[in-house]
Amino acid sequence: MNVKRNPIAYLGEEYERLVREGLAWEPRELQGPNKPISVFDGREVLVLCSNNYLNLSTHPKVVEAMLEATKKYGAGAGSDRSIAGDTTLHRELDRRLAEFKDAPASLTFQTGFMTNQGVLAQLGGKGDLYVSDELNHGSIIDGIRLTKADRAIFKHKDVDDLARVMKEAATHQPAYNHIWIVTDGVFSMDGDLAPLPEIADIAAKYGAGVYVDDAHGEGVLGKGGRGIVNHFGLTRDQIHAEMGTFSKAFGIVGGHISGSKELIKFSMNKTRTWLLSGAVPPSVAAATIAAIDVMESDSRRVERVWENREYFLDKMKALGFDTGHSETPIVPIMCGDSKTAKELADFVWGEGIYVLPIVYPMVARNLARIRVQLCSEHTKAQLDAGIEAFKKGGKKVGLI
Ligand SMILES: *Cc1c(COP(=O)(O)O)cnc(C)c1O
Repeated sequence: MNVKRNPIAYLGEEYERLVREGLAWEPRELQGPNKPISVFDGREVLVLCSNNYLNLSTHPKVVEAMLEATKKYGAGAGSDRSIAGDTTLHRELDRRLAEFKDAPASLTFQTGFMTNQGVLAQLGGKGDLYVSDELNHGSIIDGIRLTKADRAIFKHKDVDDLARVMKEAATHQPAYNHIWIVTDGVFSMDGDLAPLPEIADIAAKYGAGVYVDDAHGEGVLGKGGRGIVNHFGLTRDQIHAEMGTFSKAFGIVGGHISGSKELIKFSMNKTRTWLLSGAVPPSVAAATIAAIDVMESDSRRVERVWENREYFLDKMKALGFDTGHSETPIVPIMCGDSKTAKELADFVWGEGIYVLPIVYPMVARNLARIRVQLCSEHTKAQLDAGIEAFKKGGKKVGLI
């Protein structure tokens, strides 16, 4: 072995490979607030790729709550929630969220990723089984990987395949102690919905738990944005763990797990990401509470997201674009190969529209797309400008 060899040479080589294959990630710089019209890389553009579905990140009440709480509580919590950082605001957020979700209890975390990674790492172990949709979010995949539980994958949204997996699992020797079916509620690349009522039925048949990740459903689905469990009118006996994030429609940052009091006590006592990592600043908790206040008092925002979504989707379909299987304000514009998706994104950027091409390995090689996300505060004129740019671009790259 050549001892003079640079031990980290492979890092640069790997990066070079990503650049060569057009897979390197280079985010644009946001030079101000995230709003329907924002400044990225020095250009004022219409943003059609934000998770800020209700535009709450700049809502005056939310911003004010954050400032006030900072003055009162300081910039940081000074500790993990489990030690000396569990402020009145963090606890109030747990309570307010549980009320909003109509759940017996909620526990809030620093991020949604940490919620999935931490809670899933504990719910199952040796002798247990996780059954997971093939398109589940990376944080679910990572959380499950941290356990010694067995895992089985079912085809995307395919309840027959899920039934097959469960039937097989029922004959496993020795019998599994616990089985959890885990699914995204809204799938982030396609904007389609998990068949949650059917999943709940299958789970009940086999005595399995159901864990749903509602990151893109909260603030969008259900009464006043209460999420996918509310949307389908399911109960806490059917859906045992509902996970969500505050980094999307809530417009801030954070995560939560909601469900039975037992689930919450279990999670508090076992989840390492909660126990061993710093609390979000109290101001973040205060802003999240204010975001819940806004959602509870102004359901027009949720209605407007859907109006904008219908408007955009109808016009894009009429132009001849393939919008995939969208059922939510996530609207994919299917492009086929990566090159076409990138060309189209570059073209509309030139027209003042910011969208992201989603390419392999995020999606299959032949299913590259542009993912459009609509927000409540987009105006019709803005959407028209976006549609016009897509019309020109779509013709140029040969999609329509
Ligand atoms: C964004 C997202 C997460 C992670 O949430 P953060 O709070 O941003 O860490 C988890 N699951 C899904 C499905 C997501 O889309």
